[in-house]
Amino acid sequence: MEIRKAICVLKGPGSATGTICFKTEEGAHSTCITGEITGLTPGKHGFHVHTYGDISKGCGSAGPHYNPCNETHGAPEDKKRHVGDLGNIEADENGVACVDMVDRLLRLAGKYSIIGRTLVVNEKEDDLGKGGNKESLESGNHGAGVAWGIIGIDEDPK
Ligand SMILES: [Zn+2]
Repeated sequence: MEIRKAICVLKGPGSATGTICFKTEEGAHSTCITGEITGLTPGKHGFHVHTYGDISKGCGSAGPHYNPCNETHGAPEDKKRHVGDLGNIEADENGVACVDMVDRLLRLAGKYSIIGRTLVVNEKEDDLGKGGNKESLESGNHGAGVAWGIIGIDEDPK
């Protein structure tokens, strides 16, 4: 059966915590990503799916941004991007970020499924590949992770 709903519980070394849901309709060419993250510093934070579900050494062991098509780093709307590139989320003055996005590349099922990989919220803003240096085209200069979790299968919504 095709996986249509996934969940990720985010935790980190500091105060940041949250839950993100991924949903897709059968045969759909997009995935809805919703949820709330609290305990962040106000402003933008990079938000990406990393390749591996290994968090034995925090998000540092989760590998680079999930990039099955061997592209450079970019914004979610860019043609050239990692599949795992979800850009930035923005926390308000209370440190709360409400996430409500639709992504055209992320998949819960099939060859490029994100199930079992790690979702990471970063300390700093992702420059979306426009930072003008090598690091920008690899990961967007977003600094360390502040919260992360493994994306797992959730109960089918129907
Ligand atoms: Zn990337």
